[in-house]
Amino acid sequence: MGLLSAGSPLDWPASEPYRNRIKEDGIEQFLHGYHAAKNFRNHGLKWGDEVEYTLIQMDHTARKATLLLNATDLLHKLQQAENDNPSAVPTLWRPEYPRWMIEGTPGVPYRCYAADLVNVERNMILRRTELTNLLEPSQALLTITAFPRIGCAHYTTPKTLPFGPVARSFFTSDSVINEHARFPTLSRNIRIRGGAKVDIRMPMFRDVHTLVTQPLIPRDPTHLAMLQHVVAELPAQHPDAQAVRDALEAQVHGEIAMDSSAFGMGCACLQVTIQGRDMAESRLLYDQLAVMAPIMLALTAATPALRGLLADTDVRWDVISMSMDDRTEQEKTSGAFPKARYSSIDCYLSCRGRHNPALYNDLPIPINDAAYARLINGGVDHLLAQHIAHLFIRDPLAIYKESVEQDNTQSTDHFENIQSTNWNTVRFKLPPPDSDIGWRTEFRSMEIGLTDFENAAFSVFMVLLSRVILAFKLDFYMPMSKVDSNMETAHKRDAVNAEKFYFRKNVFKVSDGSSFLCECGHIHNASLVGGHAECEDINKFCRKTLENEASNDADGDCSPLEKMSIDEIFNGKPLCRNGMQQGFQFAGLIPLVRGYLNAVGIDEATRARLFIYLDFISQRASGQLCTTAAYIRHLVRGHASYAHDSVISEPICYDVMHTLQEVTKGRVDAPELLGEFASMMFTDENETADTMMQKMQKIREGAEAGLLRGSTMPQSALMDTIRSIARKRNDAKCGC
Ligand code: ADP
Ligand code: MG
Ligand code: MG
Repeated sequence: MGLLSAGSPLDWPASEPYRNRIKEDGIEQFLHGYHAAKNFRNHGLKWGDEVEYTLIQMDHTARKATLLLNATDLLHKLQQAENDNPSAVPTLWRPEYPRWMIEGTPGVPYRCYAADLVNVERNMILRRTELTNLLEPSQALLTITAFPRIGCAHYTTPKTLPFGPVARSFFTSDSVINEHARFPTLSRNIRIRGGAKVDIRMPMFRDVHTLVTQPLIPRDPTHLAMLQHVVAELPAQHPDAQAVRDALEAQVHGEIAMDSSAFGMGCACLQVTIQGRDMAESRLLYDQLAVMAPIMLALTAATPALRGLLADTDVRWDVISMSMDDRTEQEKTSGAFPKARYSSIDCYLSCRGRHNPALYNDLPIPINDAAYARLINGGVDHLLAQHIAHLFIRDPLAIYKESVEQDNTQSTDHFENIQSTNWNTVRFKLPPPDSDIGWRTEFRSMEIGLTDFENAAFSVFMVLLSRVILAFKLDFYMPMSKVDSNMETAHKRDAVNAEKFYFRKNVFKVSDGSSFLCECGHIHNASLVGGHAECEDINKFCRKTLENEASNDADGDCSPLEKMSIDEIFNGKPLCRNGMQQGFQFAGLIPLVRGYLNAVGIDEATRARLFIYLDFISQRASGQLCTTAAYIRHLVRGHASYAHDSVISEPICYDVMHTLQEVTKGRVDAPELLGEFASMMFTDENETADTMMQKMQKIREGAEAGLLRGSTMPQSALMDTIRSIARKRNDAKCGC
């Protein structure tokens, strides 16, 4: 949602005199916040999810599904409880860019006990119920990443006309943009700063009868009439009239072309924010989770269709990146700004342990030199100064006249102005002034699932993974260029099954020399080998891995990285010898999380519930269950009226939306998507705000019950986990 200041934002030329000032003050504000919070210690785990909901109008008579532009009214009602009693609501509601979307979060962050994780799905159900209760019978609430027909003729209720003064889009209207001044200002200023409209191109899926070359504006009579109306209203020589006439003649080859921020900011996602014990821990998590971002993007893929056409990609990320790209042509082509402000990250942040981030920061990191110098002079270390100065290469897009003057010791608004318009895969969050909120890392790459069960499972998984990273001191580092390569791979259709991703063979940190007894009878050094290496080669293996890391040659035979499938990353990779499995080459994230949970010591009901989430994710990763993207693509391609031409017509869109609604409500089975888990979802529709609040604030009996330890976990837990994974592998027949 970002920073929502009150006031009147300046248009681009009028903001010119203030831009540098905002950046300079933003850095001063960061310095104040940094020094106030740099010594925060022992903050407990707190965390929260963010779910973005899409409002749909279903016209069952005309069999049309459209996006319902009703967020503002609904938000007004949803926020009533918070306005009455801000500190005791179990759900919070916030606006989003399009008027068809609302964001919901837990009212207070979840705490640090395993039992809290079981509240997540229930809280999501409560949120869905609160919102659904406000809808009319013909209106639907879906958690989908992208409505398939954004930008197709009349795709909204009420109807809206394209080519407004803000976005000048041939497809989307300005009236779909939330009326809070921040949102249209962002769009307008992105267009003006960049010198042209955003130009979004995604590959089109080529089906048997797909027209590879298509007119830019689909030959839909309604759409054509709307644009012709725009031309008719303007003097013949007006440049806008000419632009529309040109668009009506233009063709595109093999691509889906889009031209406004609404296409990207209209995509919904699932985010998780995790508080670290201290700044160092949050920085470490930032780095480790950045590596996970492309992998989780591929695993949660849910975007097979854009602007009424099937795409040859399954995820939203690049669409939003291009839709919020404010770079000038010169900034793009000269390499001055290699990436848009909505992008994967460019530099690691942690300076903890034996890591040498310089080894891994192998992408260009343009920085704001003045900001960097000020940060260094102000006592910030190089890596953090580089990160902040990198964010500060961007201009403030929305400046509010009334709030230019600020007390830099009390406010962080100018810092947040830049920070909250760098939309990266992970975000390192400065504690707000005068609060007990600690340093946090936000994980931002995941797409949204249809059901609360799926979204809870992925949110809970990310939190547990963060615990495992800290508890078992896992190391996911790889050169940043490889993370970007994974990001590209994540966009490919069916990446989860068909593609491989760079990942570390050995995620156990080279650190404290702890050893473990392997099933083969040898003592292995857990900190040196990828769980279980070939015994006879162990010395060679270790030496080569380390030497190689030093030379940063990630592609050599003995490199620390390997290309793994998502199945291997999540479920592990056995070590096979003579047709038998012997231990593992890669332990797998799910077995590690299971081992962690076993070590935490939690009550049986909680453990069983969390294992269900892990089983579900394991099956998504293995391909036993399909992604939302694959499911929707399959619905489209299997539709009776689908002409195998990649086109998602109104009737197809209606039927798909109807099916998704029924699946969400559990009234239609989707075995390929949900498998046995459909019957395991919570159905707490009777949960009230009061009962949820009690659950969320419940004080555990016994301070340590199911405490989700991070770095304070005893080292023996890792060894027990590795032993148990190796033992399981030894029980299994080799599949290769
Ligand atoms: P954004 O930066 O995306 O606007 P918010 O600050 O609104 O995010 O909150 C994002 C998430 O962080 C929410 O789920 C919220 O519950 C959670 N959250 C709030 N306080 C904390 C905290 N102290 N530690 C971790 N997460 C928190
Ligand atoms: Mg949001
Ligand atoms: Mg967020």
